[in-house]
Amino acid sequence: MQVERREARGGTLVVGGGFAGAYVARLLGKRGATIVNPNNFMLYTPLLPEAAAGTLEPRHVVVPLRQMCPHAELLLGHVTDRAAERRVVVAQTLGGTYEISYERLVVALGAVPRTFAIPGLADHGRAFKDVADAIALRNHLLRSLESAAARLDRGEAERDLGFVFVGAGYAGVEALAELNDLAHEAVRRSYPTLRDVRQRWVLVDAAPAILSEIPRKLGEYTHRYLERRRGIEIHVGTTLESFDDREAVLSDGTRIPARTLVWAAGVRPSPALATLHLPLDERGRVTVDATLRVTGTDDVWSLGDCAAVPNGRTPGRFDPPTCQHALRQARRLAKNLTGPPRPYGYRMLGQVATLGRYKGIAELPGLRLRGLLGWFVARTYHLYALPTVRRKARVVTDWTVSLFFRRDIVELSALGHPHRLEP
Ligand SMILES: Cc1cc2nc3c(=O)[nH]c(=O)nc-3n(C[C@H](O)[C@H](O)[C@H](O)COP(=O)(O)OP(=O)(O)OC[C@H]3O[C@@H](n4cnc5c(N)ncnc54)[C@H](O)[C@@H]3O)c2cc1C
Repeated sequence: MQVERREARGGTLVVGGGFAGAYVARLLGKRGATIVNPNNFMLYTPLLPEAAAGTLEPRHVVVPLRQMCPHAELLLGHVTDRAAERRVVVAQTLGGTYEISYERLVVALGAVPRTFAIPGLADHGRAFKDVADAIALRNHLLRSLESAAARLDRGEAERDLGFVFVGAGYAGVEALAELNDLAHEAVRRSYPTLRDVRQRWVLVDAAPAILSEIPRKLGEYTHRYLERRRGIEIHVGTTLESFDDREAVLSDGTRIPARTLVWAAGVRPSPALATLHLPLDERGRVTVDATLRVTGTDDVWSLGDCAAVPNGRTPGRFDPPTCQHALRQARRLAKNLTGPPRPYGYRMLGQVATLGRYKGIAELPGLRLRGLLGWFVARTYHLYALPTVRRKARVVTDWTVSLFFRRDIVELSALGHPHRLEP
């Protein structure tokens, strides 16, 4: 294999162009950086549930890295090795395999879904982590409606309309709430024969409460709202025992006829960290000091979901894996890379979540909002936080259009499987 050498632009190599890495490169501005990332976009994950539900066009919840970081060089590919003594990282890119030399290395490889050895999970469970997962889940949901509508056997139709979500954090709750909205609206308007077929939506979590990351009262409101107003079955303090594509079995003995299992039960640091030979803690996260510099190094820095980041404002606790924290860490790191390193510290200002059309929750300093107001504030916050004016404009357009038109129920599972030309 031929390996060519090249230098990181401006001396800074950023591996991983997700939330954390992309913001570091953006904030470095004209100093420049080289980003190695498998895709040419950054995913704005908080809007992923709306992309799955079809309120937003999936392309509009991702931000092109070339627009977000106009001074950075972008190489599409994966990092595969690092030689610390020579200050080079090996990357397999679309243009070939390179040894990229750096003066400063920023490691922001993110996380992957955390799974357990549960019978059937690996074969039949669906992840909800990136834009491909969201599109696949939407198509699968719409195909389940089509399948149920075609059945003569009512029991099998109900099985098609059984949806089990494991993981009651932000990702699981928002995805379930948005997709539940989509399914009910689609049935009401377009599948008259399914109107009296039972839909069963189930949320499962090992923790004693849903949305444990938000204040208890808002979590309890969300629980009540999902259960009473939306008819969602919630099993907390419960785990999934097995799923065989026909039935989910829970640790409390509940058996749910279902053909859909969505797994959103947390994340673990990217396994690609192993290729970079960095110090990791017992959870597999890169260990960094208060300035985000990797312990035992003077030229490697790490942040985001892949790092155990100590926070000066919350002593004794590492930052949770959220966009908010990744963004604040990126702001500190960009300054530390260009000036005297200072310790990182950030206190969360608030949290927001949407729960389907016109429903949401928002926790702001001194203010707790829910319902329509919570939904409005959640959307406004995301619009503010979404990078680049172009993306903001596209998202506003999608939201406006969705206020006046029915949800689109076209399923495009054929996408990604184009016809092969026969000889
Ligand atoms: C569905 C969902 C909803 C969420 N909702 C919220 C929310 O509402 N609010 C909130 O605060 N947080 C939310 N989060 C969490 C948030 O998305 C993460 O905390 C944030 O993305 C972390 O940023 P990161 O840069 O560390 O990781 P990521 O954004 O995951 O970026 C890591 C990047 O590294 C790349 N990469 C991986 N391996 C390699 C390799 N070998 N070489 C090169 N590149 C590689 C990946 O492709 C990716 O682009 C949500 C997460 C999910 C999955």
